[in-house]
Amino acid sequence: MRKRFYRIGQPYIDAADRQSVLDVLRSKNLALGPKLKEFEKEFARFHKTKYACAVSSGTAALHCAVKSLGLKSGDEVITTPISFIASSNCLLYEGVNPVFVDIEEETMNIDPLKIEAAITKKTKAILVVHIFGQPADMTPIMQIARKHKLFVIEDACESIGATYKGKLAGTFGDVATYAFYPNKQMTTGEGGMVITMKKRLWTLCMEYRNQGRKIEDPWLHHYRLGYNYRMDEMSAAIGCVQLKRLKWMIKQRQKIAETFF
Ligand SMILES: *Cc1c(COP(=O)(O)O)cnc(C)c1O
Repeated sequence: MRKRFYRIGQPYIDAADRQSVLDVLRSKNLALGPKLKEFEKEFARFHKTKYACAVSSGTAALHCAVKSLGLKSGDEVITTPISFIASSNCLLYEGVNPVFVDIEEETMNIDPLKIEAAITKKTKAILVVHIFGQPADMTPIMQIARKHKLFVIEDACESIGATYKGKLAGTFGDVATYAFYPNKQMTTGEGGMVITMKKRLWTLCMEYRNQGRKIEDPWLHHYRLGYNYRMDEMSAAIGCVQLKRLKWMIKQRQKIAETFF
């Protein structure tokens, strides 16, 4: 039999993506413009959530999420060892200690049955990673979080558009992050997004991404320590196009996956 090769990490780019970038370049509005707002609005709408903040990478999104919850040096956050390194690095940036809980064999996601044994007085949050397009078992995880008054961060960087009991990955916890690196379900080149139902968390993320400036501040007033985590207009324009065909792209991935079984 002839060998067949499938690329698992190649993005889908067509004329619509290319056109969207040309349109931005012609407009000369390359940063903090209308495409950024449109992408955020559409991404929030897709997830039936209130707020979205587009940033320069999934790692930046995670860092903003950790900071917006006020996690700090000496705190502990329960998470999974089977992940991309960014989901632990975002904790280490703030001196927060990742506490690793083992995974379920079936899904490769954090095992809810093993979480409670890892909770200490220092535990502030659970950072769930929905790995390889498979959401973690959110019902028991949210029950444990509520019982112990822990925040829940969802790293849905690898599971954009995946559902758990009919709800999209990233719509269960306090705050969720997505990444748009070229190997993800959809891409913007480099890029990321934070979503939340909580205005306070969103406001903080918007300030962190723009050097600590207040939202819509027309001048250089810096209210807190911030970063340059902004997403540019070319990336946001690609994001708008990619989001429109996300469901179709996921179907194509599923077709390829089915050929392995
Ligand atoms: C891709 C990914 C990220 C973020 O990656 P960036 O390269 O910073 O966009 C974070 N967590 C997980 C689990 C990922 O797979």
